[in-house]
Amino acid sequence: MPDYTTRTGRGQGDVFLFTFDQHIHCDCSPDSSAPMRVMTEAARDHGMDMILFTDHVDMCDAKTGSVAPYWPDCEEKMTRSRAELLADPPMGIEVRFGIELGEIHHCPERAEEAASGYEWDMVLGSLHNLRGTMDFYYYPYSSEAECRELNRRYLAELLEMTEYSCFDVMAHIGYTSRYMMRRGFSERVTAELWHDELEALLRRLIEQGRGIEVNTSGIRQGGTFYPEESILRLYRELGGEIVSVGSDAHMPSDAGAGIREAREMLRSLGFRYAAAYRRRKPEFIPL
Ligand SMILES: [Zn+2]
Ligand SMILES: [Zn+2]
Repeated sequence: MPDYTTRTGRGQGDVFLFTFDQHIHCDCSPDSSAPMRVMTEAARDHGMDMILFTDHVDMCDAKTGSVAPYWPDCEEKMTRSRAELLADPPMGIEVRFGIELGEIHHCPERAEEAASGYEWDMVLGSLHNLRGTMDFYYYPYSSEAECRELNRRYLAELLEMTEYSCFDVMAHIGYTSRYMMRRGFSERVTAELWHDELEALLRRLIEQGRGIEVNTSGIRQGGTFYPEESILRLYRELGGEIVSVGSDAHMPSDAGAGIREAREMLRSLGFRYAAAYRRRKPEFIPL
């Protein structure tokens, strides 16, 4: 394992801090138009030493929630983009490759196929829509009670997703809050409101040796990190130590955004390391 603390370069005092973003999209995802090279150079220019691409491989149609994996097209574009980048890699930044695997339990065979389709450095496990329901991004929320019920089902499906081994890190726990907040609803996924459900989920992930992600996209939109701090505190109390950090950038201006703020927040909660993934194994990098 390389010594991440003593390289020369950007740092605080004498100590070099290896800074990395492990949730980045490019035009291999249907909701981004930024070429892989452009995202890489932007992340480097924003101070990242490493990025890990996590383009979408969703098991469902976002607008209906019906099972419709589009993996073959996606794989072809990823393969081409990766080869082009690796043939002439940008200077000053290390690039790793993974996927954001959505709704694994809705179509486990295809999810497994995507996870084993390449020697990925990391596979994120995400849930963007409940079974048979549109993406939380599109959902027409109508009441606080409905939001609460959706959050209950969301947490139950996250637990169900842990039955499958094809992901390493659970992404953006509490993703629902982003969209409920945007539509003016106050229901949230916090450790105060959902203690038992979150404890069961986090304990399972810890036992399985999997990590959780701190997704910084919410702070760009006036919200919180996902998961928010009460959940990270609970994770730590339960003995959780594997934390990945990612911007969820879909455009160059967001590449690496919020990573330093996440580092400060994690330090303030007592975490000492972030996990950098290589070949689906975490390496622990001082925060
Ligand atoms: Zn996502
Ligand atoms: Zn994402």
